[in-house]
Amino acid sequence: MESFVYTASPSRVVFGPGASSKLPDELAREGRQAALILSTSFQVGEAERLRGLLGPKAVGVFSEAAMHTPTDITDRAVAYAQQLGADCVVSVGGGSTTGLGKAISIRTGLLHICIPTTYAGSEMTPILGETSAGRKTTRRDPRILPAVVIYDVDLTTTLPAGMSATSGVNAIAHAVEALYAPDTNPIIRLLAKEGVRALASALPIIVAAPTDPTAAATLPAARSKALYGAWLCGLCLGSTAMSLHHKLCHVVGGSFNLPHAETHTIVLPHAVAYNAPAVPAAMADLAEVLPGSEGDAVKGLNVLLERLGVERALKKYGMEEEQVAEAAGIAMENKYWNPREVDQEKVRELIRRAWAGEPAR
Ligand code: NAD
Repeated sequence: MESFVYTASPSRVVFGPGASSKLPDELAREGRQAALILSTSFQVGEAERLRGLLGPKAVGVFSEAAMHTPTDITDRAVAYAQQLGADCVVSVGGGSTTGLGKAISIRTGLLHICIPTTYAGSEMTPILGETSAGRKTTRRDPRILPAVVIYDVDLTTTLPAGMSATSGVNAIAHAVEALYAPDTNPIIRLLAKEGVRALASALPIIVAAPTDPTAAATLPAARSKALYGAWLCGLCLGSTAMSLHHKLCHVVGGSFNLPHAETHTIVLPHAVAYNAPAVPAAMADLAEVLPGSEGDAVKGLNVLLERLGVERALKKYGMEEEQVAEAAGIAMENKYWNPREVDQEKVRELIRRAWAGEPAR
């Protein structure tokens, strides 16, 4: 076996249906008395429910979390937390709300209890992306990692089937790139394979459930499995360096304002097809946990995306054909590690196929 370094993620995890009811206990365990609850305007009802649960230990709700963590919103939230004398923040929502919790926590030192409601995985990473004056910057710092994560499966039941599918594939992408990361190790590979296995079996049930009574009967178990898978995939994201796929999604999504999870979903099989010749062992691992792969990881991803009925073309989200070459150019700007040499012409063709919705190969 190879030599390796494994650093365990130091957060505490509370998992299960109804787990958010343990929030008062978690606050008490951390010795906190004054929580500011964070959400998007869309999920303010959930934030208010948590306020009710905490009673006098909730000092307020800030419901302005937004995509890409704009710093002006963070500044307002920090001022509000200070005005209220908050001693911790509780974020409830997807990656955008988790981002706000991280941004407040790193600025103020306030403890962050995170209750994720999508499969994005940000709660397991020491990474924060923020935008200011239209520019997105990303930093990594161990203090960014939330101290406590409460995975309440019940809060994911409102995630629409389509969003569940793309958010779940976003999570799978973290595990895929962890399998061939330069700092991968046997523990991460175990987590990655288990995460993909769980999501690949649960997501088709979640998508089918609204119209298929057989799938609906197993929906609660599938929701638990999907969130469990997302947790493991988030750990992979937080523990290893990501490569071409994440770089492309960052560039394409960020530069052309495309939706985060949907972009990941479309690009993933193309990025995997590009890297496959350089990482046969990782591809074998991935194929092993993707139903219908017949030993071919790209085929396995295509089968999964077909079953999920997700959109396969970036052009459907407003990306123009002229932007394909521009995206390839930006993707080449900063050097980053990738298992296969990143060739501008080949990357342009990869993005073109993803733009057009052509099959990955
Ligand atoms: P999101 O947080 O932007 O959520 C999208 C919308 O769905 C919001 O309106 C939200 O309120 C709503 N929503 C969330 N959960 C719901 C639920 N259970 N039911 C109904 N509606 C729900 O989307 P996301 O994909 O979770 O996160 C994307 C953002 O997270 C991006 O900005 C991305 O860069 C960031 N991210 C960061 C990291 C990291 O490690 N720093 C990792 C992954 C994602």
